[in-house]
Amino acid sequence: LVENNARHVWHPMAHPAEMQANPPRIVHAAEGVEITDVHGKRVLDAVGGLWNVNLGYSCEPVKAAIRDQLDDLPYYSAFRGTTTSPLIELSYELAEWFKEDGLVRSFFTSGGSDSVETALRLARQYHKINGQPERTKFVSLKKGYHGTHFGGASVNGNANFRRNYEPLLPGVIHLAAPYAYRNPFNTSDPAEIAQAIARQFEDEVAFQGADTIAAFIMEPVLGSGGVIVPHETFMPLIREICDRHGILMIADEVICAFGRTGAWTGSRGWGVKPDLMCTAKAITNGYFPFGAVMISEKVASVFENNKSPFGSIGHGYTYSGHPVGAAAALATLRETTRLNVAANAAARGTELLEGLKGLQAKYELIGDVRGLGLMAALELVSDRAKKTPAGKEAVATVYEATYEAGVIVRTSGANVIISPPLVITAADVQRIVSALDAGFAAAAG
Ligand code: PMP
Repeated sequence: LVENNARHVWHPMAHPAEMQANPPRIVHAAEGVEITDVHGKRVLDAVGGLWNVNLGYSCEPVKAAIRDQLDDLPYYSAFRGTTTSPLIELSYELAEWFKEDGLVRSFFTSGGSDSVETALRLARQYHKINGQPERTKFVSLKKGYHGTHFGGASVNGNANFRRNYEPLLPGVIHLAAPYAYRNPFNTSDPAEIAQAIARQFEDEVAFQGADTIAAFIMEPVLGSGGVIVPHETFMPLIREICDRHGILMIADEVICAFGRTGAWTGSRGWGVKPDLMCTAKAITNGYFPFGAVMISEKVASVFENNKSPFGSIGHGYTYSGHPVGAAAALATLRETTRLNVAANAAARGTELLEGLKGLQAKYELIGDVRGLGLMAALELVSDRAKKTPAGKEAVATVYEATYEAGVIVRTSGANVIISPPLVITAADVQRIVSALDAGFAAAAG
């Protein structure tokens, strides 16, 4: 397997030569909140698949729903003339579930990047239908991650995901990240940072012309960029500016939706109703590639009442609303609600953050600890005073030794990222913290 992997497989977000030199761990099985590698070693999955396996790997109702749907109807398309019953049922339940966020319609996709692409396209089309075809620009945040399609890559706030693929979409404005540990504003006060970015936004609106901007897109908590938790005033400030200038607000909740932040959606946690919301990942608990863009009444009514030549939605995927994915999502949604995972994410998240702060007090290597609910990051530094990002070797040592101690985490640059299933127990949290303790002890030599 290792040889064939090196010879034939290109891995996402990886350097082929580096993967040949450092073969990946081969995961063979999974149960509950644990995965087992081909050597038979079992570890707690503190990555939760890839932020998506919220209910763990033994979620029987979802597995049963997938099996039943495969037996009944494995596939049919939802393009215009046809649709399927699980899809209609799911749309109904999603509308109920997202009612509090003001989201009333769903457009189905095959994953997060598709959801982002869909939202960006719908935002432009919304303005065209509304008689403002010149509103084509997008505003986003540095350190935001919005997938890998060309639209998403254009609004991504990390140069690594953009520079090999330029030229991208023109007219994208990236504002500073709400990142207290490092920022251009000479302050570490999150409320002041929120104000400063809001001023940047206003300044750009004035400079670009409000009537050229289609939408603002942000993650309620920035995930892949290193779990950056904005101040509670931030998203409401952005919402208010969007409203004042007729700019749509897109919440990219591919990670946050369905309870990860401790609220049912990240936006709801900040008291904001977005115009469009991108979801994917945990919508099927990682069991089927699937996503949904949730659409507000405001946006829906413009499309539904319009008679303009821009009316038809010229956008869709073969697997938009795949019946097996829809059945998986329906069962996941019910199980997510029944287990009240958002409350558990909030409670376990508080314990996790406390444990990680304890490690920071113990190890110089940990410069910053951040988190909300069950998404957390440790930022590693070689010099605390200068905040110099730690080198690859230190990060790799922590990762390897933590794995040896029985927990898999994710590393991204100098960050260690933790996003376990939302069903973990207090004992699991202790297990994560103890394994990381062993990991940092190894790196401290
Ligand atoms: N948006 C956000 C916020 C994400 O975290 C991700 C995936 N990590 C995406 C979009 C893209 O999703 P996918 O990988 O399913 O295409």
